[in-house]
Amino acid sequence: MSLRPFRNINRKKTRVINVGDVKIGGDNPISVQSMTNTLTTDVKATIDQINAIHEEGADIVRVSCPDEDSTKALKEITNNVKLPIIADIHFHYKRAIEAAENGAKCLRINPGNIGDKQKIHDVLSAAKNNDCSIRIGVNAGSLEKDILEKYKEPCPEALVESALRNIKVLEDQDFFNFKVSVKSSDVFLSIAAYRQLSKAMDYPLHLGITEAGSFVSGSVKSSIGLGTLLLDGIGDTIRISLSDDPVKEIKIGNEILKSLGLRNRGVKIISCPSCARQAFQVIDTVKVLEEKLSHIKTPVTLSIIGCVVNGPGEAAMTDVGITGGGKGNNMLYLSGVQSKKVLTNEIIDRVVAEVEKKSFRVRKKIMIPAKTIEELILKHSTLEKDLSSGEIDKKLFAEKSKEYSDLNEIIINAKKYLSYEEDKKDLEKILNDGSVDKELKDMIHNNSSENEISNYVFKDNQSIDQASLGLLLNGVTSAEELIRVGNLKEDANL
Ligand code: SF4
Repeated sequence: MSLRPFRNINRKKTRVINVGDVKIGGDNPISVQSMTNTLTTDVKATIDQINAIHEEGADIVRVSCPDEDSTKALKEITNNVKLPIIADIHFHYKRAIEAAENGAKCLRINPGNIGDKQKIHDVLSAAKNNDCSIRIGVNAGSLEKDILEKYKEPCPEALVESALRNIKVLEDQDFFNFKVSVKSSDVFLSIAAYRQLSKAMDYPLHLGITEAGSFVSGSVKSSIGLGTLLLDGIGDTIRISLSDDPVKEIKIGNEILKSLGLRNRGVKIISCPSCARQAFQVIDTVKVLEEKLSHIKTPVTLSIIGCVVNGPGEAAMTDVGITGGGKGNNMLYLSGVQSKKVLTNEIIDRVVAEVEKKSFRVRKKIMIPAKTIEELILKHSTLEKDLSSGEIDKKLFAEKSKEYSDLNEIIINAKKYLSYEEDKKDLEKILNDGSVDKELKDMIHNNSSENEISNYVFKDNQSIDQASLGLLLNGVTSAEELIRVGNLKEDANL
């Protein structure tokens, strides 16, 4: 049983397909994509934009291929970017074949629009030969004539019928590596159509509210539409359509997933709206921090709260926290615990340094092999023997003594690390025996601190027994020690 059932999202189990090396559907993370708005024939501009989209945290990117020159340009583009590319084709089957042959990893094309069976066969052969998947993209604005006549206007049933018709064309040709979207600019229509389609088939779904509008209105519309569906467990990849810079689409997409706990990437900032009680300028501080921390890709939580009304409570749940205090005496919290006072003009630098440190530790955790630790311990005991032998000259003694004390703190933690190896086995047993709920597992896998984990476990009625809890916290404590070893090793330049 989950400790916080109100946060559970039961994702619909869909089939797994691939767009290059990005897996979509099943239990795979919900991917975020955007679309370039440069001329595809302007190779340099398109590559630059794809790199900017990638840098913002996109998993996939779509590029429009309206003519032969564009599919030709695609070759150079796919060779020079890391993101897998979806070629947006619409009607012309030859463009689809060229795109698949020129490195596209997915084709956005509706097979029903191609018509001729042989042409469909040729497109699917090119897709199969080039490990290229397909997205069937049904759109309320371009439904088939007969479907529109049958239903009089775009409605959920019409979108679903069009999708199922296109699906059948692919299935009849033994092609199953595809995902589907049923988009509309109307939030109600989109939600109803996706819900119906999700019940009718198990192929992965690409979610989007099409032509959603400008940055503000489009982000709101998309958050409502996609948020509702994601809460229902529907959706395997998302695109936010904005009349704005595609990089912003990725930012909003990632924020939606972060808000729902479906994806953790980068710094998640919790901040108050500010009011007359604020001890420092919350809004300006958050703006600057967002900018300065945009390079962090590991999940770190940060609370920036203007005063003690909500500050300590929020800080208790975050990795790094600042709570405003009178006369510039703001309080820094690390892993929910008070650390030190910070003057207002030092907040930015202090927070950036602490978030970077936390991010470094998270990354470092997986980089310290046990062998290195054993080597350090051996080096430490050899130094100890040398120093206590009495056969060492003064100068060498001073050098070795310095090295010994530098190593000392590392060794204390290194020894704890080795015992962690033992604890880890027990921890893994607990994590795998089904008695630990998903949220707790996610916290552990996302390197949440011991403080956060014990807060989580003790806040609600715990569902695991005391012995297991002890082992669990032991494991986490030891994991923290391991991180600390990595950090110290770096500091000591060893
Ligand atoms: S946390 Fe404090 S400063 Fe921020 S909005 Fe609330 S009362 Fe105002």
